[in-house]
Amino acid sequence: MTRMFNFSAGPAMLPTAVIKRAQQEMLDWHGSGMSVMEMSHRGKEYMSIAGKAEQDLREIMLIPDHYKMLFLQGGASSQFAMIPLNLLGDKTSADYINTGMWSKKAIAEAKRYCDVNVAADTSEGGFTTVPSQDELVLNPDAAYVHYTPNETIGGVEFDYIPETGDVPLVADMSSTILSRPIDVSKFAMIYAGAQKNIGPAGLCIVIIREDLLGKASAQTPAMMNYKIHADNGSMYNTPPTYSWYMAGLVFEWIQAQGGLKAMGEINGRKAAKLYAAIDDSGFYANPVAKQHRSWMNVPFTLANADLDAVFLEGAAEQGLITLKGHRSVGGMRASIYNAMPEEGVDALVAYMQSFAKHQAV
Ligand SMILES: *Cc1c(COP(=O)(O)O)cnc(C)c1O
Repeated sequence: MTRMFNFSAGPAMLPTAVIKRAQQEMLDWHGSGMSVMEMSHRGKEYMSIAGKAEQDLREIMLIPDHYKMLFLQGGASSQFAMIPLNLLGDKTSADYINTGMWSKKAIAEAKRYCDVNVAADTSEGGFTTVPSQDELVLNPDAAYVHYTPNETIGGVEFDYIPETGDVPLVADMSSTILSRPIDVSKFAMIYAGAQKNIGPAGLCIVIIREDLLGKASAQTPAMMNYKIHADNGSMYNTPPTYSWYMAGLVFEWIQAQGGLKAMGEINGRKAAKLYAAIDDSGFYANPVAKQHRSWMNVPFTLANADLDAVFLEGAAEQGLITLKGHRSVGGMRASIYNAMPEEGVDALVAYMQSFAKHQAV
């Protein structure tokens, strides 16, 4: 058996220890005689699995008691509609910060439901930076402010949390959640599709302040209503049981690594090594302003794009896979989420250096 270093942006690598544990528990979970996949979501075995996952996430992220956690289906993309449906209340407009492809999608969807005030837009610079706090043109009467702390495609990450006064701050943390400690109390709502840094696809986690529940517009489908999910412990209907279980194993793994502080230290080192290899090479390039570079998604181009295919082929021979950049950006992208071991980044850096050396004239 060979496990490659998989740099996929999502679904992404999971820790090998987690997959092994799932394998051990696959046929018979803790003497229950069932796979987790076969359990009733209302049975005591599954309730214990779900409850522990939730409790562990609360501990890892230090989520205050007045926040609910929802384990939903429909991916992060469903949230693009659920947010305005649930949070507008009697307001008619919301602020959105546009820093890339995912912000744009959130904006396009919100426009079906409300007036969108684009509080800042970095498209002119090709989404290679984030706006400063001073550049945000916020509407004090907005229902909420939405932003994308880490743009997975452009590899651009906020180095600060926007200050929005009394207006609730909503963050799409799909590709940065759990990468380091954050202060949850600064946010009204955090959401993340699982398949980047939490677990398998099929699950989306929403962390929401309780006072924001119960304001959904009358037409909101029950399945899109946060309050209904909150009141039912995310079991209004059948939740994505296996993905939720796997997320729980990932949370245990994070605790065993030393929690988010330890993850942040490892992730900071991994990103620094990779960016240094790019910047020092004279052969690779990353267009993002240094202080706004993503810790999780590192796009880079080769000095000669004709070599892209050769680069990818040679990388795969070294066990370094899924490095091809997003179709809208081209070049390469290395996603280095929590589950990517530091040795994976070291191996990529070594390969990049040797590849560049062989191309030098
Ligand atoms: C991947 C991603 C999404 C979309 O997630 P789905 O679960 O596929 O809907 C949204 N936002 C960000 C920042 C992402 O990285």
